[in-house]
Amino acid sequence: MMPFTYERASDAASAVARLAQAPTGVFLGGGTNLIDHMKLGVAQPDLLVDITHLPYNRIEPLPDGGVRIGALVRNSDLAADHTIRQHYPVLAQALLDGASGQLRNLATMGGNLLQRTRCVYFQDVSKPCNKRVPGSGCPARAGYHRELAILGASEACIATHPSDMAVALAALDAIVRVQGVSGERAIPLVNFYRLPGADPQRDTVLTHGELITAIDLPPLSFAARSRYRKVRDRASYAFALVSVAAALDVADGTVRDVRLALGGVAHMPWRAKKAEAMLRGAPASEETFQRAAEAELAAAQPLPGNAFKAPLARNILVRMLLDLTEENRS
Ligand SMILES: Cc1cc2nc3c(=O)[nH]c(=O)nc-3n(C[C@H](O)[C@H](O)[C@H](O)COP(=O)(O)OP(=O)(O)OC[C@H]3O[C@@H](n4cnc5c(N)ncnc54)[C@H](O)[C@@H]3O)c2cc1C
Ligand code: SF4
Repeated sequence: MMPFTYERASDAASAVARLAQAPTGVFLGGGTNLIDHMKLGVAQPDLLVDITHLPYNRIEPLPDGGVRIGALVRNSDLAADHTIRQHYPVLAQALLDGASGQLRNLATMGGNLLQRTRCVYFQDVSKPCNKRVPGSGCPARAGYHRELAILGASEACIATHPSDMAVALAALDAIVRVQGVSGERAIPLVNFYRLPGADPQRDTVLTHGELITAIDLPPLSFAARSRYRKVRDRASYAFALVSVAAALDVADGTVRDVRLALGGVAHMPWRAKKAEAMLRGAPASEETFQRAAEAELAAAQPLPGNAFKAPLARNILVRMLLDLTEENRS
């Protein structure tokens, strides 16, 4: 590991100002992803600004009926929160499907959003990788890509985003609140991540030194009937091959409203807008669900090793919608 300076931030403004002067400095949340990367040589910051003592560890109601989650709330605390379990079960389930109990006790909301891809070439500094070293190449396309993207990938990178939590947040239309040297801004989660394009080294629209302070959940009455389902190689402690976050509102056999997002298939949580548009106002039937899922996945461009993901995603999507329809009846 390279030598680095450690500092503990006492307030957000000075933390942000400090990083603005340190081009390779980073914030330290729970450290469960960052420290691993420092040990592997994937990340080589010269400064760590520890933000864990900043006052962003609360889960608070918003005047509009939504919820504000501080960026330093631990993943396990959010998963156990009564309001989240009752009103946004998809989020509690996604959190509990991620990592392990010990990791969730350390992992923060901000750090979870900014965890980096699990592509094996990205994590191996002896290999080329456009995301780690721009312009060095992408060995995954012709090499090992079983876990990698089938939607929205580019010639430069086919990595997937690893966070389960972010998939649920995409379905819930969450807003990411950030503070930078020139002030605060609020970024819809669906616009927070980038597709890889020609420059996959940047995962998000954040600029260097911007601090995530909170995540806002808008009120969504039918989110009380929402679910997260994750398919992975082991029953626990494994990243998603494919996952689905869904919330469904059905009345008199017709879909009134729906929110769908897919994980494990793209460089970002994949909000399934095409399927949603086909479902609104349509009969809540298996045939409609099949057609919507197929339309969403029609854009898939799988490689030989990950071609199984398209039918897998379609099947989980349909099954989830059938289960939620059943739940709407009861
Ligand atoms: C063995 C293992 C299995 C795992 N399995 C899963 C899984 O199945 N699903 C899943 O979703 N995750 C999984 N994870 C990942 C885990 O969820 C993340 O490591 C964790 O959420 C990162 O949070 P952290 O607070 O520790 O972030 P850190 O490691 O502290 O930080 C990660 C990045 O975010 C930046 N950062 C942190 N906080 C902020 C902030 N507030 N503002 C701006 N930048 C910030 C840091 O500078 C760093 O670049 C697993 C991890 C491990 C080690
Ligand atoms: S898929 Fe992306 S992260 Fe993986 S080797 Fe290619 S460029 Fe690197």
